[in-house]
Amino acid sequence: MFFDTHAHVNFNAFKDDGEEVLRRSLENGMNVVNVGSQYSTSKRAVEYAHKFENLGTKSPLGDLVPKFSAGGVYAAIGIHPVHLKKGSFTHQDPWEIDEEDESASSAGREIPTVGETFDYAKYLDLARDEKTIAIGEVGLDYHHFEEGDDIDFLKNLQKETLLKFIQLANEVQKPMMFHCWDAYADLLEILTNFPVTKKGIVHSFIGSYKTANKFIALGYNLGLNGIITYGDGYDRLIKEVDLKNIVLETDCPYLTPRPLEKGTRNEPLFVNHVAQKIADVKGISIEEVAKITSQNAKEILGL
Ligand SMILES: [Zn+2]
Repeated sequence: MFFDTHAHVNFNAFKDDGEEVLRRSLENGMNVVNVGSQYSTSKRAVEYAHKFENLGTKSPLGDLVPKFSAGGVYAAIGIHPVHLKKGSFTHQDPWEIDEEDESASSAGREIPTVGETFDYAKYLDLARDEKTIAIGEVGLDYHHFEEGDDIDFLKNLQKETLLKFIQLANEVQKPMMFHCWDAYADLLEILTNFPVTKKGIVHSFIGSYKTANKFIALGYNLGLNGIITYGDGYDRLIKEVDLKNIVLETDCPYLTPRPLEKGTRNEPLFVNHVAQKIADVKGISIEEVAKITSQNAKEILGL
């Protein structure tokens, strides 16, 4: 079944029904990684993972039989690069940006950022947790800079923080989950000079297939989500990249895949639409996409 390698059921969009959402994902045999973007949501991701760890049940014969066919809830812990700066940024899903008939004001959502300072010891605690299977999301985001920002300062802060997280990942020997927007060259340079032992995933990959191949050569997998369903802009990428280097993700509650209605809150179950798009472009079955991408995820995340 499907493996959603990048979800945010630990975010406020799911504060009323997050457990229900995860339960129905598990009932469908899914694996889900909830990803933290600051300390509080990282901690919540770990707590969620523990809440769902005891779903196995004793059968009359005494064997431990999992209540659900497969599936599990895991955590990734990190600081999203936009959270290093205090303030806010406007979040727009790419399909909202593309479609000019929609008013920008209703499409953009103002997301407050916390201006968090990286506390190595606190994150080390979370990183050591057995349910934490990746360090992230962390990385570089040069896309959300705004007028008046000290860009050199912010770029340096993002790079320094990323290096500390690489150190953390290597200390606990876990893979990483990168967020990277308008900064692939810098990320590639850092990963070449400061290698992550256990590699990881470049989440929400939106680069060219040539850039993709550079990450693959370093040992990374690419996370594809609803963005690839918004048109044919990523068909070439999907065609050129071998399925064995791709993992699926939703990035829910954001990036709801088509054909679901715009504005629908995304959730892990909807990852099937991302898989269907890959299957269509590659001319293979959705079952094969599910099988191979889930194997990839388990391998890269050490499960
Ligand atoms: Zn994310």
